[in-house]
Amino acid sequence: MSPTILITGASGQLGTVLTEALQHKYGRENVIASDIRLPESFDGVFEILDVTDAIRLEEIILKYKVDQIFHLAAILSANGEQNPLNTWEINMKALLNVLEASRKNKVAKVFHPSSIAVFGENAPAVDTPNDSLLNPLTSYGLSKAAGENWGKYYFHKYGLDVRSLRYPGIIGYQSKPGGGTTDYAVEIFHKAVTGEPFTCFLDKETTLPMMFMDDAVRATLELMESPRENIKVRTSYNIAGISFSPEEITASIRERFPNFIVEYAPDFRQEIADKWPKSIQDCEASRDWNWKPEYDLSRITMEMIDNLQGNYAGFV
Ligand code: NAD
Repeated sequence: MSPTILITGASGQLGTVLTEALQHKYGRENVIASDIRLPESFDGVFEILDVTDAIRLEEIILKYKVDQIFHLAAILSANGEQNPLNTWEINMKALLNVLEASRKNKVAKVFHPSSIAVFGENAPAVDTPNDSLLNPLTSYGLSKAAGENWGKYYFHKYGLDVRSLRYPGIIGYQSKPGGGTTDYAVEIFHKAVTGEPFTCFLDKETTLPMMFMDDAVRATLELMESPRENIKVRTSYNIAGISFSPEEITASIRERFPNFIVEYAPDFRQEIADKWPKSIQDCEASRDWNWKPEYDLSRITMEMIDNLQGNYAGFV
């Protein structure tokens, strides 16, 4: 029998795509999408849910007899710095509500993403290992680092099957990013395809870990489907895709659009990016559940351009 799945933050960049993947896998009627805002277009079961509202969250869990929660709702790194205390408050309250409601109502599995934002200046910048010191320098990173440990706490204290991935910057054509430090790597493709110049908010040499949406969604499903005893890391798994800088992605796009103009105007996000790893090591994820990325930069570029060209052509 198919599990009943609740997704929080389902209208966001990742939630939009993950919801469709889960619907495809488990059946439309078994996936309850939720968010504080409606998605642009949607076919399926949707509930308006502010996850900081513990009572409403529990009502929905009971109403649908939810077996698994994919908790994506969060305030992201760059947006989060506009109001750091609010970011901490929302991100922590939402996660603790999910963990506590899951414990009380015997939800079988919980997924909550962490981020490369948990690393700070004391972690190795290249090939950052899974168990590096976490000393994040954003409110978002602080909330993700604390959240990882709360997940582990609920696993050890209550046996709740909590699983997590540290996503790199996610690049996809299906949805727009929601205020992170790696958003430029999606926006740049939209500008290239629409023939407009692009002003990059990071410096041209800022290398960061990134991942194509399809890899991120597949990693999430593979982690959640792995046998419980295989999951040895209960804080969060590093998962690596590909690392590149704005200059390198520009060169890749110029193979298709040689006249594409890119200018650089680093803003406050540069300081955030400078403290993050350039690349991360993911041997624990490969060891425990056979993680392997499929998309390199040239394949990402091809997929992004081909699909966005199709999307924009459909709009006119
Ligand atoms: P997003 O900003 O696009 O989507 C987040 C969604 O959460 C939004 O639709 C927003 O309306 C919703 N939300 C905000 N506050 C809420 C609340 N109180 N209750 C219910 N919904 C609320 O973010 P995303 O890129 O889709 O990220 C999803 C998750 O993945 C987040 O936890 C994020 O930290 C993590 N992540 C994303 C990336 C990335 O590159 N996109 C990288 C690392 C980690």
